[in-house]
Amino acid sequence: QSSDIHAEVVVLGAGPGGYTAAFRAADLGKQVVMIEKHSSLGGVCLNVGCIPSKALLHVAKVISEAEEVSHHGVTFGKPAIDIDAIRSWKESVVNKLTGGLKQLAKQRKVQVVQGVAKFVSANSISVATPEGEKLITFDHAIIAAGSSVARIPGFPYDDPRIIDSTGALALQDVPKRLLILGGGIIGLEMATVYDALGSKISVVELMDQLIPGADKDMVKPLHTRIAKRYEAIYLKTKVTKIESLPEGLRVTFEGEQAPEPQLYDRVLMAVGRRPNGREINAEAAGLTVNDRGFIPVDKQQRTNVPHIFAIGDIVGDPMLAHKAVHEGKVAAENIAGHKAYFEPLTIPSVAYTDPEIAWMGLTETQAKAQGIAYEKGAFPWAASGRALSVGREEGMTKVLLDPVSRRILGAGIVGVNAGELIAEAVLALEMGADMEDIGLTIHPHPTLSETLCFAAEMAEGTITDLL
Ligand code: FAD
Repeated sequence: QSSDIHAEVVVLGAGPGGYTAAFRAADLGKQVVMIEKHSSLGGVCLNVGCIPSKALLHVAKVISEAEEVSHHGVTFGKPAIDIDAIRSWKESVVNKLTGGLKQLAKQRKVQVVQGVAKFVSANSISVATPEGEKLITFDHAIIAAGSSVARIPGFPYDDPRIIDSTGALALQDVPKRLLILGGGIIGLEMATVYDALGSKISVVELMDQLIPGADKDMVKPLHTRIAKRYEAIYLKTKVTKIESLPEGLRVTFEGEQAPEPQLYDRVLMAVGRRPNGREINAEAAGLTVNDRGFIPVDKQQRTNVPHIFAIGDIVGDPMLAHKAVHEGKVAAENIAGHKAYFEPLTIPSVAYTDPEIAWMGLTETQAKAQGIAYEKGAFPWAASGRALSVGREEGMTKVLLDPVSRRILGAGIVGVNAGELIAEAVLALEMGADMEDIGLTIHPHPTLSETLCFAAEMAEGTITDLL
C-alpha cells in the first residue's frame, strides 16, 4: 500500500495533549499531521470534560449564591430553569474554543485528518476517514489518544437512564432522583450541577471518604455542606445490582452504610477513566502497553520505540489536562532536536465542587503513609475577613513544610476559589520557597489569597493579626 500522506510528525488525537504538541512542533518548523476521530478538535477536555463541566458549574454557582444571599438580606425568587438555553450556552462556550483551535491549526499549517487511526507499522498509521482508508507514513509520531469512561461490568448499560459524564453534560433533563456512583472529582462536580438545577442527589462511594486523593480534613467542609443539601451520602458502600424497571432504576447496595434497595430516575456512573492504549493497534508498531492500558514513557515522553512519543492520559496518572499540555510541549521539543524533560515537582489537583478542594505536592495522608517528617500550618477561613464577607467561612488553607529546610512540601486549600488559589503554592514549591518567603510576601488585603500567607506565618509562629 502506498502512502497517501507523509508527515514529519504525526499526532494521534487532538485533545489538549495532542493539539499542544502539534502546534509546538509546527512552531518549531516541523510539518505536522494531526489525526482526530471526531469532527471537533479539543478532545475530552474541550468537548465533554473540563470546559462544559465548568460552564455548567458556573450556572450552579450563580444559583447557589442567589440562594445564599437570602441570608444576607436579598431574596430572589425560585430560579426558572430553561434547560435548553443552559445547554446552548454551554455548547456556545465549547464551540468558541474548538472553533478557535481549528483556526490555530490552519495558521500553523497543521493538516487535520478526520478518522479513526490504527498503527500499521512503526512508521505508518492507517486512518478510516469518511472518504475511505488513508495511509499516513511518518518520521516521528506523538500518541495523544487519551482515555475513555471506565465501566463496572454487569450493569444494564443499554438502559439510557444509566449515564456517564458525557451523558450528564449533555443535559437532557433534570432527573428527580439521581444516584452518583463514585464520589470522586467528576462525580461530585456533576452532583454540584444537578443539585443546583433541582435534582435530589445521592452519592455512593466505596472508600471511607469522598475525593479519596485529598486529605480528609480538606474534604470535610465539602462533606458537611453537601450532607445537608443532598438526600444521602453512602461511604464504604458498593452497588451490587442495577435493575431496569419501568418505574426507574432499582439499585441494590452492599456495605457498612448500605440502605435498602432504592429506585432512581437516573444513575450517573463516575468510577474513573481508562487509557486508550489498547485501541490503537500499538503492537503493530512494537509499542509496549502495560496491564492497565497505559503506554510507558521516559522523562522525554519517549516510548520504547525511539521515534514514537506519547503524552497525556494515555501515559499515566494523574489524568489531567494541564499535565497533558506540558507533556505535549516536551514531546514536540524533543522531536525538534531540543533537550526537554517532563519533571515537574508537582501537578496540582482541583475538585471544582462547592466549596472547591485543591491540593498540590505532598498530602498529609501521603506523608504519614511514607513516614516523611513534616510540620504544618493550617489557617481557618473563619478568621479571614474576606471569607466572612462573602459568607463562606468553612474554608481552610494548609501548608506542609520540611522541618529542617523549612521549605514548602505541600499545600491543600478547601473553600471558594481554591482552584485559583492553589497556583501560588505550586509556584512556591517549584521555586523552592520556604515558609518565611511566603509569610514575608505582601499579599493584597482583603483577599482569600492572604490565607496562604497566614498559613505560612502560622507554621512559623509569626502570625499576629488573624483578620
Ligand atoms: P483526550 O482529551 O482524551 O483526547 C484524546 C483524543 O484522541 C480524543 O479527541 C479522541 O477522540 C482521539 N482519539 C482517540 N483514539 C483515537 C483514534 N484511534 N483515532 C483518532 N482519534 C483518536 N482535567 C483537568 O485538568 N481539569 C478538569 O477540570 C477536568 N475536568 C474533567 C471533567 C470531565 C467530565 C472529564 C471526563 C474529564 C475531565 N478532565 C479534567 C480530564 C481531561 O479531560 C483529560 O485529562 C484530558 O482531556 C486529557 O487530554 P489528552 O490530550 O491526553 O486526551
